[in-house]
Amino acid sequence: MAHVLAVANQKGGVAKTTSVASLGAALTELGRRVLLVDLDPQACLTFSLGLDPDTIELSVHDVLLGRLSAGIVVSTTADGTDLLPATIELAGSEAVLLSRTGREHALRLALADLLDDYDVILIDCPPSLGVLTINGLTAADEVIVPLQCETLSHRGVGQLLDTVQDVRRLTNAGLRVRGVLPTLFDARTAHSRAVLADVVARYHVDVLSPPIARSVRFAEAPGTGRSILATAGRSKGADAYRRHARAIAGLSTADEIPARRSPPPA
Ligand code: ADP
Ligand code: MG
Repeated sequence: MAHVLAVANQKGGVAKTTSVASLGAALTELGRRVLLVDLDPQACLTFSLGLDPDTIELSVHDVLLGRLSAGIVVSTTADGTDLLPATIELAGSEAVLLSRTGREHALRLALADLLDDYDVILIDCPPSLGVLTINGLTAADEVIVPLQCETLSHRGVGQLLDTVQDVRRLTNAGLRVRGVLPTLFDARTAHSRAVLADVVARYHVDVLSPPIARSVRFAEAPGTGRSILATAGRSKGADAYRRHARAIAGLSTADEIPARRSPPPA
């Protein structure tokens, strides 16, 4: 049975898509069977993994509207992860779904047939708290909240956690918050750390460690159709995502933590 994780934050530019692509590639490196779902009508995940959203014929839109089964629409990317791609048509799904009964469950039902084919399914949510994100949260076991630590970040987290509460009450009682993932992190500024501490104190959420540092290597990856695991595999950013992938896969992360063992006996 696949473990299903949604990556959500209604703010754009906080590295949701980057985190989904990087975690997906890192989990694939670990030998896990991974499916990525692009739930954003801007289709950035689809594009950044080398597919052209303007020429794709079948997309997650057809799946959400019940026209096609998800398995038919899945493509394999150069990173080796499978992808349920998006096109701009997905913007129209929102309106169609709103007129339907059970609209929040469309993705969960569509993925049900694929749960035995994958170990991990990662859902890239759009930057809104609309019906597409609710579909992502309804289909998920856990949600990861990428957070760029800047002034007023906490307000967005509060709204998202309210939405998670609604989803638990109405459509998915078992949804867990895996934690906040600090992204675009600048450890040199006390400000980033202060914002993070404030979010933890207010909302009692876990902070996933290590934070993902800001690095130009990330900006280069999407244009190549590969994730940073392929374009800058030895960078700190790639390694940070590898550690999160190990934790998601239920593997020990200890061997990658800098040695702090006591010296061998003399
Ligand atoms: P979202 O999906 O939340 O809108 P993206 O993943 O598209 O965010 O990231 C927004 C921008 O930030 C992209 O240009 C991406 O390449 C860049 N980016 C993501 N992570 C980092 C990082 N750690 N350092 C520098 N740039 C990053
Ligand atoms: Mg995105």
